[in-house]
Amino acid sequence: MMKHWTKRVGSLLTMVALAVAPAMAPVAAAHAGGQQPAALPATGAGFSLTLPATSTAPVAEEDGVQFIGTATVLIRYRGLTILTDPNFLHKGEHVHLGYGLTSKRLTNPAIALEDLPPIDLVVLSHMHEDHFDKRVQEKLDKNIPIVTTPGAAKALKNLGFVRTIGLAHWDRLDVEKGATRVRITSAPGRHGKLGAQALLPSVMGAVYDFGADPAQPDYRMYVTGDTLIHDDLKDIPQRFPGIDLALLHLGGTRILGVFKVTMDAQDGVQLLQIVQPRHAIPIHYNDYDVFKSPLADFAREVKAAGWGDRVTFLAHGERYRFVLRKPLAK
Ligand SMILES: [Zn+2]
Ligand SMILES: [Zn+2]
Repeated sequence: MMKHWTKRVGSLLTMVALAVAPAMAPVAAAHAGGQQPAALPATGAGFSLTLPATSTAPVAEEDGVQFIGTATVLIRYRGLTILTDPNFLHKGEHVHLGYGLTSKRLTNPAIALEDLPPIDLVVLSHMHEDHFDKRVQEKLDKNIPIVTTPGAAKALKNLGFVRTIGLAHWDRLDVEKGATRVRITSAPGRHGKLGAQALLPSVMGAVYDFGADPAQPDYRMYVTGDTLIHDDLKDIPQRFPGIDLALLHLGGTRILGVFKVTMDAQDGVQLLQIVQPRHAIPIHYNDYDVFKSPLADFAREVKAAGWGDRVTFLAHGERYRFVLRKPLAK
């Protein structure tokens, strides 16, 4: 399988860093004809990535997400396969979270690393071992493109990964594979409260605009990354209204049993209220012993807040199919 990936992604891949786009251009475009552009931070830089096309025709029925475990998700859209936050340790194995802290895995991934389908691209929210573990560091194809934070991109380079793309908040990457297009924009995430933040890696949320026109996407998805609730999250629905699906990193992770570093049940509902996605799926909720907020709490809070019919709960291995905004041409 590893050889197969290398062949697919390998030397055919080209990555072109484009010049920084004029600040505010996409925002201005989004408000064309409207009254007043909202006071948003300047947009980031634009990059592009061209992946080798494959000869097999995409299967529309496969478009969607498959939850593997922790924050590991397979995203499929029109023949493009993206893997997020690869964590393939097994039950009983430990991750190191820095400063001598370790945590035990309590679940198994739905698919073993060796059994993954061919992957075009990895999107990594941040460099913590429950998101990019030692087995992945050793065994993942070093030629696979990995989109992540600038800091994690540097760390991955040091580990031998040669095609890393570091995005600062609001930077965007336009991915092309044959006729398939997706734009990935880095969205702000904050792993700790101010003060504790300096001790934790920076985090990238991700907005995926699937389709030829990122301003009018066929489907818009947002993945939070490990984050607490913070003010910058309010910019996400302003910039990206009408998110079709949000994947929430929950778990209410507690370091030393005290400091909360990921959203718990109540935070998860607050995030839904801020971002207003049409639909949401919780992930990163029961895989490690530092995850302290059970999914049942989130289910209860969601119901109490009136969001019950907009949240889908996936067990490891289960899929959720995208219903695209406009039917695809044959
Ligand atoms: Zn983390
Ligand atoms: Zn995590």
